[in-house]
Amino acid sequence: MAFEKLESTQQNVVKLLRNSYKKDRLSHAYLFEGERGTYKFQTALYFAQLLLCTNDDKPCGECHNCKRINNQTHPNLFIIESENGQIKKQQIIELQTEFSKTSVEKGSKIFIIKDVDKLRVESANSLLKFIEEPFPNTFGILTTTNINSILPTIISRSQIVTFHSLNKNLIKEELSSLGYESTQANVVSQITNNIDDAINILNSEAFLPIFDIVTEVYNILAAKDESVLLYFNKNSSIIYQENNASLFLSLMIMYQKDMISMIINNESSIVFTDEIKTMKNIVLYKDLKKIMGELEYLLDLLSKSHFNINRSLAFDNMLLELESR
Ligand SMILES: [Zn+2]
Repeated sequence: MAFEKLESTQQNVVKLLRNSYKKDRLSHAYLFEGERGTYKFQTALYFAQLLLCTNDDKPCGECHNCKRINNQTHPNLFIIESENGQIKKQQIIELQTEFSKTSVEKGSKIFIIKDVDKLRVESANSLLKFIEEPFPNTFGILTTTNINSILPTIISRSQIVTFHSLNKNLIKEELSSLGYESTQANVVSQITNNIDDAINILNSEAFLPIFDIVTEVYNILAAKDESVLLYFNKNSSIIYQENNASLFLSLMIMYQKDMISMIINNESSIVFTDEIKTMKNIVLYKDLKKIMGELEYLLDLLSKSHFNINRSLAFDNMLLELESR
């Protein structure tokens, strides 16, 4: 991942690490805590690069060390991940053995323990010893999404670094830079503020078909040249699978709110940015009161959609409501 992106999305964390490095005040153990998708692991690699980069402008991302850290092949970098939901004592012992060898290259040694909350109690003591009496020039980064389940003894011996979730604009930018279409990136950034979840939603089998159904429903409503009910019944089978009904309704609600934004001249908050032309055609014959009424109808349906209702009938009625004048 590009440094500039990390520096802009987790600015405070990057600044903290850089300053501590510059002032030679690094801790021997850091606990990176925060939700999934906040770049904790990427920041841990960044930290390793900061320590081992051979260029003046650290980390450069280009030198042999930076590249090997990025590929996770540098011998001074040791990464521990949970196996079957646990981090075992044996893994901590291997770490100690590895770092006591002289075969590693000169310079700092860094270990990263992902999801340190998965550490078993009996392994925790070995780790604690390792943190307390570190080999010279050894640094540990522990990551977790769940700081509440970490042993207090580990917390008290680490410097806690909190990672905040990314805001909607950053999610949107990140998705666009990964090549996702901008309206879709926009829509998903309204659903989650977690980049991993956002990517999962975009890559899910249901997202694109449902996105297409929603935009097509409104395009038919705008053009008034065919029956929206007929179209829907021909294409909607995916909506009745799993939890797709709530995704479908959430997108419908977003679209409906966009039309309200349009009427009240708040176009900058429109999410379905590619649909502005269609929305303009709809608001030509529907006023604010009508669109608000439809929005309430959709919100009511969403709140009921988890219950055992006759969905097919409910959706037919919803479409009739949208089609009515
Ligand atoms: Zn470098």
